[in-house]
Amino acid sequence: MTCGPDETPLPVRVARPSLFLDRLPPPAQPLPRWRVDLAPPDITPWRAGNCGIPGVMHYEGRRPGPHIVCVSLIHGNEFSGAIVLDRLLRMRIRPRSGRLSFIFANPEAMDLFDPRDPVRARCVEEDMNRVWSPATLAGSRSAHEIDRARMLLPVILTADRLLDLHSMLWPGDPLILSGLSAPGRQMARHVSGVETAVADQGHRSGCRLIDHPRFSDDGPAAACLLEAGQHWHDSTVARAMQAVLSLIGPCCGVPVPDAPTARRTMVVTNVVTARTGAFRFVAPFHGGQVLPARGTLVAHDGRDEIRTPYDRCMLVMPNLRPARGHTAVRFAHAARSPE
Ligand SMILES: [Zn+2]
Repeated sequence: MTCGPDETPLPVRVARPSLFLDRLPPPAQPLPRWRVDLAPPDITPWRAGNCGIPGVMHYEGRRPGPHIVCVSLIHGNEFSGAIVLDRLLRMRIRPRSGRLSFIFANPEAMDLFDPRDPVRARCVEEDMNRVWSPATLAGSRSAHEIDRARMLLPVILTADRLLDLHSMLWPGDPLILSGLSAPGRQMARHVSGVETAVADQGHRSGCRLIDHPRFSDDGPAAACLLEAGQHWHDSTVARAMQAVLSLIGPCCGVPVPDAPTARRTMVVTNVVTARTGAFRFVAPFHGGQVLPARGTLVAHDGRDEIRTPYDRCMLVMPNLRPARGHTAVRFAHAARSPE
């Protein structure tokens, strides 16, 4: 049960008064120089996989239990999750009960990583976190990431708990995203290491892994996406390790260090998609920032103004340089507790 704003939400997108149409939005700032403290891990021992699917390491415990799946490298330049899974594999972590799968989803994208231009290795051909609709997977269209998703599908379709490990380009509070399903929201509150859980309905531009019907229909399977921190920072690896251990520790007999679970759950109400190539935020907002007053101007999108629809509106992962057709920001309000 969630609570909406007390008053009727304001429209998020409004045409600017004609008086101001001659004023152009501020020009785009050049991209910052990104700090790169990490190098891609050497995942050579895991590339062939051990179960017939390249990049998938699968283990079975002696006792029955759930199938837990940890996924890294859905985005090739977000390799903190791959560093975590590589370390755990080298420690020979195994499940005592249930099944455990570690997935290196797109090593070929990570292979393109160049610290001099670190944002370019996100994918080989297209965003692998937009290809998971059954129609796309069953269709005839071929691309590196779609073909790879088809390859991984047998693991996804048997997952009971799935954690998809990502990191963020722009500064922002770490967070764990679930879809709107009850099992996903419940899982988000039990993974430790992040203080904010966000329930959302995904993106217009395509279906994420956590939105696959395996996790978004009424069944018991749950999936969450961890945004563990900024790309290429050591603290992001530590947070991803904490989250993974909190998920797999109990079935693998590994002690889980104490860390908080989500203290606040936010529900996304609006997904703002850039309609023009001239989407400009009015300030360098950071993810997790809460704007106190409704109607606050957040961005210009060509001739439209983007404003917060209600008081205490949280900005979820503002993309300070969105391309046309891409998500620029999401607006969220607090869920009524207990979730
Ligand atoms: Zn990502």
